[in-house]
Amino acid sequence: MEMVAFIGVIMIAGILGWALFRFVIQAACPECGGAAYAAGRRPVCYHCKECGHVHRTNIWQSKGTN
Ligand SMILES: [Zn+2]
Repeated sequence: MEMVAFIGVIMIAGILGWALFRFVIQAACPECGGAAYAAGRRPVCYHCKECGHVHRTNIWQSKGTN
């Protein structure tokens, strides 16, 4: 039974990590608070799914070649 509990803890930790990752990646729209998804790399932009607002960040994601 200890093995089952151990596997359960591993699974819960994995789900929590995934949820945290999703929370960090998915930004909230500054205009309407809706879910926004990342689009664009130079700089990284967030497009709101609710109102269509585009939020530009200061993050520049390079692909190795600058
Ligand atoms: Zn919005």
